[in-house]
Amino acid sequence: MAALIYRRAFSDSYGLTLLGSGEVPSISETRRRIFLAERRTDIGRPDHFYKGYLQHRLGDARDVSELPWIVLRSLAGRYLERRDGLVAVRYELFGEWHELLPFLSPLAVIIAFLVEEDRGPGPGVDPRPFLASEIGDTALIGAVDPGLEDIVRRKGLNELHMHLNGSTELDVLWPDACAAPVAVYAELKDAERKSPEPTAELYEQLEPGLTPYGIYRRLRAARRVRRHLVMELASDLEVGRADGRPATGLAALSEAAEFGRSDMDWPYPRWPALSLHPARVLFRGRAYRPIVEEAGFLYACLSALKRDPGHRAIGTGLYFNLLVLTQLARLAVQQVDESGFDQFQKYTLLGTRERIERRYGDRFRQLNVREPFQTLSHLEGRFAPKASAAGTCALITDIVKGYLEFRRCPHAKEARRLEGPPPPCLTGHSCGGEGCGGIGRPEAELFLVAHFIKRLPSARNDYARRFRDSDLRATLDEQARILCALVKGNATVRALLQGVDGASNELHAPPEPFAPAFRLVRRAGIPRATFHVGEDFRHLLSGIRAVAEALAFLDLQSGDRIGHATALGIDPALWLDRTAPRAVLSRLEALDNAVFAHRALAAIGGFAGDLLRLESLIAVHSDALYDAERSPDLLHRAWELRRLDPLAVRAVERSLQEGGRPATATTVAEEARFMASTTIDETRAAELRLVADTVARSGSAYELFSQRHALDPARAMDPVDIDAAVISLEAFAALQDHVLGLVNNRGVALETLPTSNLRISFYDEMAEHHLYRWLGLVGPVIVNRPTICVGSDDPGIFATNLRNEYAVIGSVLRHRFKLTSAEATRTLEKLNDNGRVHRFVPPGVGFKRPRDT
Ligand SMILES: [Zn+2]
Ligand SMILES: [Zn+2]
Repeated sequence: MAALIYRRAFSDSYGLTLLGSGEVPSISETRRRIFLAERRTDIGRPDHFYKGYLQHRLGDARDVSELPWIVLRSLAGRYLERRDGLVAVRYELFGEWHELLPFLSPLAVIIAFLVEEDRGPGPGVDPRPFLASEIGDTALIGAVDPGLEDIVRRKGLNELHMHLNGSTELDVLWPDACAAPVAVYAELKDAERKSPEPTAELYEQLEPGLTPYGIYRRLRAARRVRRHLVMELASDLEVGRADGRPATGLAALSEAAEFGRSDMDWPYPRWPALSLHPARVLFRGRAYRPIVEEAGFLYACLSALKRDPGHRAIGTGLYFNLLVLTQLARLAVQQVDESGFDQFQKYTLLGTRERIERRYGDRFRQLNVREPFQTLSHLEGRFAPKASAAGTCALITDIVKGYLEFRRCPHAKEARRLEGPPPPCLTGHSCGGEGCGGIGRPEAELFLVAHFIKRLPSARNDYARRFRDSDLRATLDEQARILCALVKGNATVRALLQGVDGASNELHAPPEPFAPAFRLVRRAGIPRATFHVGEDFRHLLSGIRAVAEALAFLDLQSGDRIGHATALGIDPALWLDRTAPRAVLSRLEALDNAVFAHRALAAIGGFAGDLLRLESLIAVHSDALYDAERSPDLLHRAWELRRLDPLAVRAVERSLQEGGRPATATTVAEEARFMASTTIDETRAAELRLVADTVARSGSAYELFSQRHALDPARAMDPVDIDAAVISLEAFAALQDHVLGLVNNRGVALETLPTSNLRISFYDEMAEHHLYRWLGLVGPVIVNRPTICVGSDDPGIFATNLRNEYAVIGSVLRHRFKLTSAEATRTLEKLNDNGRVHRFVPPGVGFKRPRDT
């Protein structure tokens, strides 16, 4: 990891607490804390290693006020350069830079570069027009890569996996939070009420005892400190106070920084309103885009520090600003030292993004990098449907409106009603002569994918209702019906909503409860589906099995996709190396894994030793669950019934019971067929017919299926620990290849999300990502190499965008796998072409090509 020491320079929460109580931390103690923070992340290295870095990198600093300029200037010098007229990341260092982003504000580094370069306006001149042309709409800049540039220019990128919420970058989020601490506090409180435990864990992880109120007090203080900096920077502002004491200097700064002080008790003019961005106060004039305003503020501060590095009030004020910003980053951007989906989910539950992410226009600009916004040709925005049809419709309206505003399309004004067919600008046909702004690629298109949310089961409810995941199933049914109604009644929704997905924490729910909802929306005409699966798992077998279950139970077919599927790509040896030697699973999960692996390995052939071990596990666990050993074959046949809606099965059983008849496979099939013929609800009739057809063939497997759903949770969830290496490495790899074969047989493509996986999964560096194994560049060898397309997942939370995902893939291809630039470009282009082929578009649009290919 590069940028050691530097990357921790603004993470000193103890120093922040001191500043918040009126004390400026000493440089020697701050250096010690930075050293310790760095050392904690990798205790394998000797002290002198870090101390050497510390001396080299921060040795000259005599005061904390000097840290912002020293650190930002050094990072700018190392990573950035001017190429083709733009500030860019150095080509060979892009991977390093990308891994550094969770630690800091990239905008601050870019501004340090511009200040050092000294091409901008001098003191007293508004730098925002200069900055507006220098900085696009994002601080997540890329490296100059002519190959990638050529692909973007000729074809545009196809973004196939991106959640619209979770996409705003830190440098836009930060000034917005500073502008409205009260509103942010309200969102944080609301989120805390909804998910008390996970949010509390994240606050505690950041700093013991921290609460939403603590964050609020810091944002409030940061806002005042930013105003104080304006006073320092603009001596001509009328900023004195009544008693004649100076409004500038360290003592006045300390008053602004005090956490415990309310704005009312801050003895300086609060006009213009504190919510106004400091750059607006400083330079007056018209408003610029939020990221340019923030750039203007940083430019003024860093220019002043370059001129006078010893200016303690400006240096300390900016240091304070960066410390609070880094805390917000830790609440809004997935950190490097936090892995697993549980960690990631806390970011989505915390509420830091709620407020700003209600508006969509700016995000489309950010995702398209800079004027003329031609990065993306296809964007599939994912959103979570709301609890009501009206709420879901309002959400889609906001998204559509934001997109049309981004394209400067006059139809944006009508978007409020969302009636009639969609404006051409949404679906890849520019409005042309209708006074449309023509922003973005002419063929750019926006489609939507509704992602259902996985959730934890309630053991009590499930036991009472006698089927598993009963709450989730009820919610899914409701939401699927809402989507069906919207698609039926609204031409714009019908045109845009091209697929469904299941997202969120995979450890909370398997694919099977989603099966009825997926069938329902397909029948209603939402043509495509994808599913987050094999992304995070308690055991590699669980992950591989989950992908196979998604394929089978959700009936994924040609044109559909799967999100992540890390379990099918990760080198089993690497997984074994990174995971604990034993995994704790529920007994049910342990049994399912053994049955699945047994079935697949028997079909592949040649794994006698593994099969024997699995057979004994199956005997033990099935006996403990069902009071009798069950054969692998019977268990597998019962597994196949899981595509059924257990609610429908239970209704059939109840009907039999009322008629005094026993429930066997034969009677259930008969009764289901009869009920299907008499029910009016077509969806329900279809589910009953599926029950009749499937159960008729199942014999005694039906009984086992029924028993499993009704298991006492204490028994089913009984934790058992199993060896991580429960089967051989060769067997793991064979299972991965086997399921990849099933994926290919069905014509399903895999969405890969490199940065998301790097941050959440088992990988320490991008070169370990399974993409390269799928591409055949590294072993263990895969025979059934999949069709891969690329997405960025949550660009804000992961500090990335689609272009940078390609850039980082390219960087590893060249620097680690030693491909030539031309070879790497060919691979990137292939991935992007896969995206175009497998993108979700209405039938008939599938062969549309960009104009000039
Ligand atoms: Zn238009
Ligand atoms: Zn995702």
